[in-house]
Amino acid sequence: MSTDYYSTLGVDKNASQEDIKKAFKTLAKKWHPDVNPDRKQEAEEKFKEIGEAYEVLSDENKRRIYDQTGKVEFGSGPGSGFSWQNFTHFSDFSDIFDEIFKGFGGGSPFSGATSGGTGRREAQLDLSVELEITMAESYSGVKKEIKFRRSVDCDTCKGKGYEGNVKTCRACNGTGQERIVQQNGPFRLINTITCRTCRGMGYTGDRKCLACHGSGKRSIIEKKTIEIKPGMADGSRMLLRGLGEMENGHAGDLYIFIRVRPERGVERLGDDILIDKEIGFPEAALGSEEQISLFGKLISFSIPPGTQPNDIVKIKGKGFQRIRGNGSGDINVRISVSVPKKLSSRQKELITSLRDELDKKSWFNK
Ligand SMILES: [Zn+2]
Ligand SMILES: [Zn+2]
Repeated sequence: MSTDYYSTLGVDKNASQEDIKKAFKTLAKKWHPDVNPDRKQEAEEKFKEIGEAYEVLSDENKRRIYDQTGKVEFGSGPGSGFSWQNFTHFSDFSDIFDEIFKGFGGGSPFSGATSGGTGRREAQLDLSVELEITMAESYSGVKKEIKFRRSVDCDTCKGKGYEGNVKTCRACNGTGQERIVQQNGPFRLINTITCRTCRGMGYTGDRKCLACHGSGKRSIIEKKTIEIKPGMADGSRMLLRGLGEMENGHAGDLYIFIRVRPERGVERLGDDILIDKEIGFPEAALGSEEQISLFGKLISFSIPPGTQPNDIVKIKGKGFQRIRGNGSGDINVRISVSVPKKLSSRQKELITSLRDELDKKSWFNK
């Protein structure tokens, strides 16, 4: 077994504590035996080597002894090398385990024991709501009231869950965490989980708070008026700080995901709008003043003479307001040209003379 702890972790002799911790976490994730079921034995050995190296290098005292003498004694028994009982950094494991077992669909070897889950993190206090608006609202901006449920600390007990005084939890000595030892063949895994006696609070009390039945929480319906700026697109996200779930005085954030309902005949491309407009052959040939209706408003624009089917006529600056940067996008009007299906005899006559006239012209041009 290698005893060059630095090369085991792949760091150099002057590595900072931060580098060492980072290297350890990366390697522990890679070599965790549960991630390497096809070469479990090799992984268990590697995992233990990494643990041993980290145990020594993360402790300035042990590291100094190791730097001077090239070895560190673990325990006092004859031939006692490093074992997981010597490991003192289980808290560094908890987020590694979270990550490893997240992908295992509940297959965590601790799933039986972790009724409270492992370690609560701020991100778990975040909430998200979806808000649907119309395209017209995203075009001109709108104020909307959102309603959502969140939990806040109980007023009566200030989130403690108990009336009167509380005392340090004896099961976890107030740390809020307990150790679970898992024997897995020759391999012993120790994980820290949320203390089941105090549910991670670190204290207990004599009388549960009646107002919240000891949960320390109260569920409320929050109402908030939010302003949607003109131009906000489908899929945009807004962040309202401090409006997530509350726990012991800390509150997460609220994310609002904007959904824009599609609108018939109006297509948004970036900050531009694409709209179809059908005109007659004379208008296409001679040019004309036209109007389109956008979100209930009429917008006038002119079509140049000689406009072809599928030509795009731009109406500058009337698209969606840009969220980043100034100004607005454009409206692109895609022109189609209609051909009359029924003609009176007078109309036939006129178009025939027009055709003859056009033919003559092209004959002269040859
Ligand atoms: Zn209460
Ligand atoms: Zn406890």
